Amino acid sequence: MKCPECDGDIPIPKDALEGEIVTCPDCGASFELHKKEDGSFGLRTIQVVGEDWGE
Ligand SMILES: [Zn+2]
Repeated sequence: MKCPECDGDIPIPKDALEGEIVTCPDCGASFELHKKEDGSFGLRTIQVVGEDWGE
């Protein structure tokens, strides 16, 4: 699966589940798997919202 950020190759496990978090080995970006209407997986960028981090 292509990384939307860097176009690198992200390995998706065959038994991957919807909602699973995958990380691009090239740029380190994390994405959440979601099922598309045709049953294949898509990648959703994880939005890190700056709340409750308690920095
Ligand atoms: Zn990437």
